[in-house]
Amino acid sequence: MLQSRFFWRLYLTFAILVLIATAGTGFLVHQQLQAVLYRDLELQLLNLAHALSPFAQDIYVKGPSAAPNNRPELGHEWPRHVQERVVEIGRETDTRISLMAPDGEVIADSQSDPATMENHRNRPEIVAALIHPYGLSKRFSETVHERMLYVALAVRKDARILGTVRTAIPLTRVGVMLRDLRATISWGAAFSVVLAMGVGLLVARRITAPIAEITNVAEALSFGAYNRRVESPRADEFGMLGATINRLADELTKRISTLAQQRAQLSAMIAGLQAGVIAVDDHDHLIFRNETASELLGLLPDAETSGRRLTELAAIPGINELMTKARAVNSAANGEVTVQHEDAAVVLDARATPFATADERGIVVVLYDITNLRRLEKVRTDFVANVSHELKTPLTAIAGFVDTLADGAIHDDRNNMRFLAKVEQQVLRLDAMVTDLLSLARIESADEPFLLEPVDWLAVVNNVVEHYRDQGYLQGLSLAIEDRNHQIHALGESEAMRQVLDNLLGNAIKYTPEGGSITVQIFSRGEKAVLEVQDSGSGITAADQERIFERFFRADKARSRGTGGTGLGLSIVKHLMQRLHGDIEVESEIGRGSLFRVILPLANGTDTSKP
Ligand code: ADP
Repeated sequence: MLQSRFFWRLYLTFAILVLIATAGTGFLVHQQLQAVLYRDLELQLLNLAHALSPFAQDIYVKGPSAAPNNRPELGHEWPRHVQERVVEIGRETDTRISLMAPDGEVIADSQSDPATMENHRNRPEIVAALIHPYGLSKRFSETVHERMLYVALAVRKDARILGTVRTAIPLTRVGVMLRDLRATISWGAAFSVVLAMGVGLLVARRITAPIAEITNVAEALSFGAYNRRVESPRADEFGMLGATINRLADELTKRISTLAQQRAQLSAMIAGLQAGVIAVDDHDHLIFRNETASELLGLLPDAETSGRRLTELAAIPGINELMTKARAVNSAANGEVTVQHEDAAVVLDARATPFATADERGIVVVLYDITNLRRLEKVRTDFVANVSHELKTPLTAIAGFVDTLADGAIHDDRNNMRFLAKVEQQVLRLDAMVTDLLSLARIESADEPFLLEPVDWLAVVNNVVEHYRDQGYLQGLSLAIEDRNHQIHALGESEAMRQVLDNLLGNAIKYTPEGGSITVQIFSRGEKAVLEVQDSGSGITAADQERIFERFFRADKARSRGTGGTGLGLSIVKHLMQRLHGDIEVESEIGRGSLFRVILPLANGTDTSKP
């Protein structure tokens, strides 16, 4: 507060006013008291003169005695006791007393020998006393050699002036009195000033303290300390100002917290978006990017990238072009951008939109990963092409055989039945393919989820193996079933599980040459029920292992077709496993055989592997 200019201004103004008022009052009091003192002294002197009047009158009436006969040159002489009496009265009253004859001759004087004194006819107080009721003068006395205050009174008898009585005191005595008076006034004034300044200090502090506090709080608020408030509210205007500042701070705090909350929500939303979002300023410096954008564009973590140019961080020409276009037309620009990552290419749908705030301009780019979409589109077109091709091959074959028969071969008894058998084979192939396609379509499009229940894997295995054995497919092959943990129950759907095993076992039989072996194993692993179909067949290359679950993919086309394969079996298996919330894995080596592993959740309480 001592640094407060307002405090010092207020206090100095107050101090100057106090000083002026005190000095003015002191001066006036001094003047007034001085006047009163003089007036009082005049009255004292006048009263004394009046008191002496009868005594003087008596002397004047008696008059002077004649000079002794032997000394006529001395003229008349005033009685000796008159002078003695005047000296005595003068001593008693501490006043100079003089008696004068009407012609100005000094008859007696309390402080001087009248014989040595000059005529006082012309003294101003004497002159005035003869005209006015009394005479007054302040002047230097030639007789006593100091400044004196004189009062002279004419002594009359029957309107005749007998002489004058003069009383006087030295002005030095008045001076001493006035000095004492001034000292008293000065001390009083000084005391009042000190007191007033002390009180003034308290008052100024009391006035400026709330202003200083309000200023401090306002300043703190402006620096972001939103929890600061004006304490000790008062009932005056400063109190109202403080309360207003507090309300303002409350409102500010509320708004800022709402803004912070909204900002946090927005950040969380943007951070959690599946779409990538980046923002750059007008010079392409990165302002913001979310996690998804970093992943999609392969950007480094925050610390190393903030404030750097996007072009330095990731050289993606497509995005740069989009941003340039958006800037040029000052509106959103869309495009498809391919970003080459180390392992794969990512296709992005990018939209660059310019933005401008009060103090910043730039571009926001929103990125959607459409790699999967594009892949699915390709899968779909490939599928249509594949289906057409797969259907066309047997149809062309059938058309060929039918043409040959129509052209006369029908009458060729040696070959006609063979041609018809070929037609039947192609028809069966078409039928198998259409059946598989329908089954795949059904699995894919089914809205109803499978009703999952504990299914005894071993029962399913026995059922499928029985079927193959009955059909004679297992001839020339050795098949073993191993149920390591007695009767595992998987959480699944028996028909779907049967279909999965049917395909896997069918493939194992198809791709295992005579003399080979097939093993079906069932066991539990942790919370999972595992079924493995292992064969000692041709095996699948690592590259083909990646693709065997695609529709119509056949590693060995000739063999597959020869065995009536449609290329859809594993695709059906994969989709079934997805719907059963399970997994399918493959391990294989060319020439050594393949292992297909089906993993399903273990039905609760049926893990018999645990004692
Ligand atoms: P297909 O009807 O041709 O058997 P699948 O979808 O069942 O179609 O299998 C796809 C391809 O995977 C097959 O063409 C074959 O090349 C390969 N394959 C599947 N199972 C085996 C296996 N047990 N041994 C070797 N190759 C296999």
